[in-house]
Amino acid sequence: MSSYDAGPVAALRRIAFLLERSRAETYKVKAFRGAADVLLPLDPDEVASRVAAGTLRELPGIGASTAEVIEAAVQGITPARLAKLEDEVGGPLVDGGENIRAALKGDLHSHSDWSDGGSPIEEMAFTAIELGHEYLVLTDHSPRLKVANGLSISRLNKQLEVVEAVNAHLGGSGFTLLKGIEVDILDDGALDQTDEMLAKLDVRVASVHSKLAMDKYAMTRRMIAAVQNPFTNVLGHCTGRLVTGNRGTRAQSEFEAEKVFAACAENGVAVEINARPERRDPPTTLLKLAIDTGCLFSIDSDAHAPGQLDFQVYGCARAEELGLDPDRIVNTWSRDRLVSWAQSRI
Ligand SMILES: [Zn+2]
Ligand SMILES: [Zn+2]
Repeated sequence: MSSYDAGPVAALRRIAFLLERSRAETYKVKAFRGAADVLLPLDPDEVASRVAAGTLRELPGIGASTAEVIEAAVQGITPARLAKLEDEVGGPLVDGGENIRAALKGDLHSHSDWSDGGSPIEEMAFTAIELGHEYLVLTDHSPRLKVANGLSISRLNKQLEVVEAVNAHLGGSGFTLLKGIEVDILDDGALDQTDEMLAKLDVRVASVHSKLAMDKYAMTRRMIAAVQNPFTNVLGHCTGRLVTGNRGTRAQSEFEAEKVFAACAENGVAVEINARPERRDPPTTLLKLAIDTGCLFSIDSDAHAPGQLDFQVYGCARAEELGLDPDRIVNTWSRDRLVSWAQSRI
């Protein structure tokens, strides 16, 4: 048994992180994240005396498997569950991509439990810090995406206050949580949020989530209109395809890619390399085309849980394989350069 000195909350969070980055179902992760939340406000002495007295499970949200983790960590022993996960899924997610990953300073696409993510905003921010990021853009969904609990104007306004509070709390850490949105591209290419709200944000990802099977020429017009919108900074998962995973597969949408990417290059809009394994979007032929067209890129995790922030390396491996110049990847830029680029057309 190896020794462990990071304490029970760190052990529970690390287990959740490893489960999430290995794409475990949410229900398997929930118990560990929940138990960490229960423990966090407690005095460590209280936790230790509960371990000694065998009364941990009297706390709400602590079950057999989480109690086992806590007991080991409190006793200074690496919890068996943690050791097993480190061994099985703790290694690199993919071959390659390390150089570009090391050059990334942040992530432009992430979701919290305000829309369809699984964790609170602050947990996403803490994990981004642990991954070495200088910034994370919080991009919860826009109103029209009701299945994903898209944010109304008033909820988005509230969220912006929370983002400011998180930043105030993290003051001096060198990390900034940036205000953002994943805004739906409506059927006619308009964005699903008011200009007034979009103007309050630091970075905006615009994505198609509906009518993916629309006629090729209509889809081209729709996407170009969105790209020309001065608030659009990143074109999210451009084909909408799903290649694997529990949502099944979905064909890529059809559009005139030369024209769409030319519009991105002309308007300084970054084409997203969506790193989620089930998306892997754009497909390689289109990614090569966008590189040849002179586009900027953003390598995004599109994380819906903290551990999924680690997905970025999948996109990095693809970019590295195709020889993409890191300076064309906007999230290798400093926060200030990124934010001024994102405001440059409005
Ligand atoms: Zn999306
Ligand atoms: Zn997303």
